[in-house]
Amino acid sequence: DARGAGDRLFGFGNRNMESYAFRRLIIEQEIRVGLEADQFEVFYQPQVDLRDGSMTGAEALVRWRHPQRGLVGPAEFIDIAEESGLLGELSTRVLRLVCKQGAVWAGRGMFPRLAVNISPSQSRHPEFAADTLAILDASGFAPQQLHIEITENTAMTEPRQTARQLAALRQAGVGIAIDDFGTGFSNLASLTAMPVDVLKIDRSFVAGCVRDGSARVVVAAIISLAKNLGFETVAEGIESVDQRDYLVQLGCTYGQGFLISRPITAMQFEEMYLEGSAATGVRQKAGGGWPA
Ligand code: C2E
Ligand code: MG
Ligand code: MG
Ligand code: MG
Repeated sequence: DARGAGDRLFGFGNRNMESYAFRRLIIEQEIRVGLEADQFEVFYQPQVDLRDGSMTGAEALVRWRHPQRGLVGPAEFIDIAEESGLLGELSTRVLRLVCKQGAVWAGRGMFPRLAVNISPSQSRHPEFAADTLAILDASGFAPQQLHIEITENTAMTEPRQTARQLAALRQAGVGIAIDDFGTGFSNLASLTAMPVDVLKIDRSFVAGCVRDGSARVVVAAIISLAKNLGFETVAEGIESVDQRDYLVQLGCTYGQGFLISRPITAMQFEEMYLEGSAATGVRQKAGGGWPA
C-alpha cells in the first residue's frame, strides 16, 4: 500500500483518497521526469562474512538524486512507481547500472557479488529471466556475481510463474535470495520448491535477537531451516556488535547493516572494497564472492 508514501518528501499531510490520488499523480510525473533526466542512481551496502569481517559483495539500493529534494530513498517512490507501471523501466535502469558497474570493477580485478532487489511485477513477468540475461550479456558482468533478491511474499504471489523465471536465471548462474525472510507467511512446502540460494533474515529479528527471546528463537529457526535446506543466510540490519556476535554464535554466515556500513556510493564502495577493511579491519576474501 503506497498511501502515505511521499508524505514526508512532498509535504502532504492529508490522507484522504482524493489527496492521495493527487499526490500520486505529482510523484508519478516527477518519476517520469527523473527517468528522462537520469536522476536515479545506485548505492551499495557492503555485505561481509560475519566470521572474519571479509567483504563478499554488496546489496544495490536505488536512490533518486532529485534536483530540488536531494537524495530520496526508495520508500518514497517504489510503490508509486509500481502502481504507475513505471517500475519496469526503473528496474531495468537499476539492473543496467549495477551490471555496468560490476563489469567495470571486474575489469579492475574486483569481483564483489552484487544483489539487486526485484519487485513482484518483475519476477513473475514471462520475459524477466530473458531480459535479465540479455542485460548481463550486454554488460559483460558474470551471472555468477549477480544475486536477485525477492521478498517472501513476492515469491509466493504467483509461485509457479515466479519459480520458472528464477529457475532460468539460476540455471545461468545467477544467485537467488529470499529477502525479509520471516516476515511473510510462507507456505514452507512451496518455498522448498523455489530455486533459492540464500535466506535473508529480516532486520526486525536481527534488531530483537539480543534482548528478545522470541526474536532469537525465530533467528535460530531460520538459520536451522536454511542449513537443512542447503541455503546460505544473510542477516540484514546489523547495528551492534552484540547483534553480530549473537548471529555468529547462532550460525549465521553473512550479514550487512549500519555496524559494517551504510549504503554508500559506487566510488565509496570501491575504496572500501580495496581497503579490504570493514568495521573489523579484516581483509576482503581473495577473489570475492561466496562459496558456490
Ligand atoms: P531491503 O531490500 O530489505 O533493503 C534493506 C533496507 O534496509 C535498505 O533501505 C537499507 O538502507 C536499510 N538498512 C540496511 N542496514 C540497516 C541497518 O543497520 N539499520 C536500519 N535501520 N536500516 C538498514 P532502503 O535503501 O531505504 O530500501 C528500502 C527497500 O526498498 C528495500 O528493502 C527494497 O525492498 C526496496 N528497494 C531498494 N532498491 C530497490 C530497487 O532497485 N528495486 C526495487 N524493486 N526495490 C528496491
Ligand atoms: Mg533487499
Ligand atoms: Mg531486506
Ligand atoms: Mg527489509
